[in-house]
Amino acid sequence: MVRPLIAALLDLLYPPRCAACGEPGEPFCAPCAEALLPPGDGCPRCGRPGRAATCGPCLLHPPAYDGLQAGGLFGGPLADAVHALKYGDRPALARPLGRWLAGRVTLPPGALVVAVPLGRRRRQERGYDQAGRLAEALASAAGAGRLTGALRRTRETPPQVGRSRAARGANVGGAFTADPSLVAGRELVLVDDVVTTGATADAAARALLAAGARRVTVVALARAE
Ligand SMILES: [Zn+2]
Ligand SMILES: [Zn+2]
Repeated sequence: MVRPLIAALLDLLYPPRCAACGEPGEPFCAPCAEALLPPGDGCPRCGRPGRAATCGPCLLHPPAYDGLQAGGLFGGPLADAVHALKYGDRPALARPLGRWLAGRVTLPPGALVVAVPLGRRRRQERGYDQAGRLAEALASAAGAGRLTGALRRTRETPPQVGRSRAARGANVGGAFTADPSLVAGRELVLVDDVVTTGATADAAARALLAAGARRVTVVALARAE
């Protein structure tokens, strides 16, 4: 009884703010919610927007993961929200965004949620790991189990922005290692804030499967083109 009352009082004093523009609303105010771009159809394997058919790159080099779901397309208010979560020093946004994401994706029954981890140096610079916070919030909102410490970055990788597809793959290839004692035989949902080419998710999924995971699918807050 007391906790909901305190929560209601806090909401009154500090109304939840839109993750994109700061107006009242959670995680988005009404105009921002209107402006979100739904993920729509696309490649069932990697989520690349467009036709609802396996895309060319997936036919040539299928990713290690089995499918990708996203809360929306990267752009507009969702891009602003991702930016605030990642670079705006606003880790508290992970909770409402994770809840929002849980309402838009379907986790396989019994799957455990694993985050794409940041490297140690970048985590120290930022002070928190946004994908980890998001995974935590998604798992708790979806009633799924959360697996921590199962996946590690073995080396820091320079940012993927501005790299070609092949260069992105080479950049992150072998950058992860997974703990077989935690992942063997498990159905896993790999969570990241944004998926662009899918090279990072692919490298992380590869490490999980190499450690014995049964199946890996990906959930991202946003899918970029
Ligand atoms: Zn807004
Ligand atoms: Zn594809």
